[in-house]
Amino acid sequence: MKPRIALIAHDKKKDDMIALAAEYVDFLRGCTLSATGTTGGRLINELGLEVTRMHSGPVGGDLQIGAHLVNGEIDCVIFLRDPMTPQPHEPDINALVRACDVHNIPCATNVASAHLVLSQLQSTAD
Ligand code: PGA
Repeated sequence: MKPRIALIAHDKKKDDMIALAAEYVDFLRGCTLSATGTTGGRLINELGLEVTRMHSGPVGGDLQIGAHLVNGEIDCVIFLRDPMTPQPHEPDINALVRACDVHNIPCATNVASAHLVLSQLQSTAD
């Protein structure tokens, strides 16, 4: 089955997400991708990826991804969080990360860990 990957980036991390996804774009084209609204829009427009877009994070997109994850529909979360900026939806962010831990789903919250997760998934897909 194709890896099912959720992608989320806070505003100051969105350029990092695009650069990261560009590095793995060929692999990501073979994955089933979902993303929060604005992150997904950029992945679609700038990289031509096929992405199922949820609502934007601050209005519930993280929770939508969390619900899919709890339903067993997501294999991995790349969540580039901004630790330096308070977020209005902090409870939703914590809920999603907690759901990853409850369900033992890999959750990369920075670029370095995202590289480790994506390169591992890519190598097992080859
Ligand atoms: P966004 O949501 O991709 O819609 O910006 C991400 C977030 O801020 O949680």
